[in-house]
Amino acid sequence: MQVALLTVGDELLAGDTQNTNATWLAGQLTDRGATVARVLVVPDDRDLIARKVCEFAERFDAVIVTGGLGGTPDDVTMAAVAAAFDRPLAPDDRALADVEATVKAVREEFPDIDLDHEAEASIPDGSRPLLNEPGLAPGCVIENTYVLPGVPGEMKAMFESVADSFGGDVESRTFHTATPEADLVADLEAAGEQFDVAVGCYPDPAVRHNRIKLTGEDPTELDRAAEWLEARVEVTTPTE
Ligand code: ATP
Ligand code: MG
Repeated sequence: MQVALLTVGDELLAGDTQNTNATWLAGQLTDRGATVARVLVVPDDRDLIARKVCEFAERFDAVIVTGGLGGTPDDVTMAAVAAAFDRPLAPDDRALADVEATVKAVREEFPDIDLDHEAEASIPDGSRPLLNEPGLAPGCVIENTYVLPGVPGEMKAMFESVADSFGGDVESRTFHTATPEADLVADLEAAGEQFDVAVGCYPDPAVRHNRIKLTGEDPTELDRAAEWLEARVEVTTPTE
């Protein structure tokens, strides 16, 4: 399963906010055996978001969009996703009931809060609402596209509610070596050619080690590639 992540927000591009949503989602999807094929950060630009959702929804098995769901003027994601699938935005009954319950609780602390419930509960017509347990703005699922909030805690809770939709057969094998990268090149290249696996080498200068990661869909092939490499490269465990 090939998944694309579209993370929305000017603050991500400005470097004000770290894109922890992308890293967290990538880890979750990889752990489930899916492949994250793209991670894209885009500004709060409705037309651009719509274009990228269209492109990714056509090209990949699933798309996850995060950020820009709330009611402030910079939150344009829901309108963009609706445009991408050529649907109007419409208040959803279940989302509306959830928004009203949340606002009722919030009013105990902020009695004068001014909020357009229907606008807040609007999702692309015909999509499935994803209720926002820890927050307010609902997400949704439309065809193969999952729209989640930007607030990391809300995003994680909502992802858990759809996590079972994501999976695949991709596995990996990882080991470390203190051998310098230059001396690994020939063996890594040969492993990639002989076995049906992707070979990655990731230096970690803090512990003076390289992490070697083999990725593929065939467990036997992965084991054979790991065995072949471990016979040629000195495997050691880094100490912090
Ligand atoms: P709200 O309804 O509260 O407005 P939202 O879904 O519209 O939420 P944003 O307005 O995009 O989300 O962002 C809310 C908060 O989450 C901001 O502080 C933002 O910086 C943070 N955030 C957004 N996207 C990410 C991301 N990819 N990684 C980490 N934090 C993020
Ligand atoms: Mg917002």
